[in-house]
Amino acid sequence: LVVMSGVDKHYGALHVLKGIELTVGRGEVLVVIGPSGSGKSTLCRTINRLEGVDGGRITIDGKELPAEGKALAGLRADVGMVFQSFNLFAHKTVLENVTLGPTQVRKVKKADADRRAMELLERVGVGHQAQKYPAQLSGGQQQRVAIARALAMDPKIMLFDEPTSALDPEMINEVLDVMTDLARSGMTMVVVTHEMGFARRAADRVVFMADGEIVEQADPETFFTKPSSARAQDFLSKLL
Ligand code: ATP
Ligand code: MG
Repeated sequence: LVVMSGVDKHYGALHVLKGIELTVGRGEVLVVIGPSGSGKSTLCRTINRLEGVDGGRITIDGKELPAEGKALAGLRADVGMVFQSFNLFAHKTVLENVTLGPTQVRKVKKADADRRAMELLERVGVGHQAQKYPAQLSGGQQQRVAIARALAMDPKIMLFDEPTSALDPEMINEVLDVMTDLARSGMTMVVVTHEMGFARRAADRVVFMADGEIVEQADPETFFTKPSSARAQDFLSKLL
């Protein structure tokens, strides 16, 4: 579904992505881990062109990513993204946050968008909060609304960049549970997280990054029990 080949990215003199080779198959769940500053967020952001690249190719469904314009908006609509901060529209209700994209970008009729949004809000466990404003919800509830909002666009792939890092500990699991369900439902996902329990139970593949490179990729069982690279061994030993 997503193919990155030879992807390079610099910030000035800083080489943040170094010849990234990565494929994500349909229905696959990738968990990306690695030390701070290794390029995990940048990798995610290049997949939907929030960041441009200096070299290499990224294709989604065989199509190269357009740099700008209408085609880019179309592509963005296919790539759902959930960030560390919830980024909900503060002056719109929960329901409006979820229906905005479908009605404006996908041109879905309001009644249909409302119905679908309610289904998604129920699915992530916040259906009863639909008429509230984001500030009236807990962080975990807001993040689940953000997931519902992304899903409302019927994305081909969902990107998550540390979706639970800003949450109080007791709210982390309610968000991870929604993500685990989503993974089991067959959604294609790329998840940057420090939640190793989630990686173990939901990932098809763990991608370990360090210094702008993919150092190692393996199924979670192999990665967590016998990582092959010294960098990954070092990283894991510091977590335990
Ligand atoms: P973390 O775990 O802390 O979120 P990360 O693996 O997501 O780290 P990135 O955010 O991708 O790392 O950053 C990779 C490198 O690029 C870092 O050295 C960072 O300081 C640098 N960087 C990121 N964004 C920018 C930017 N907009 N301008 C300049 N440098 C940047
Ligand atoms: Mg990051």
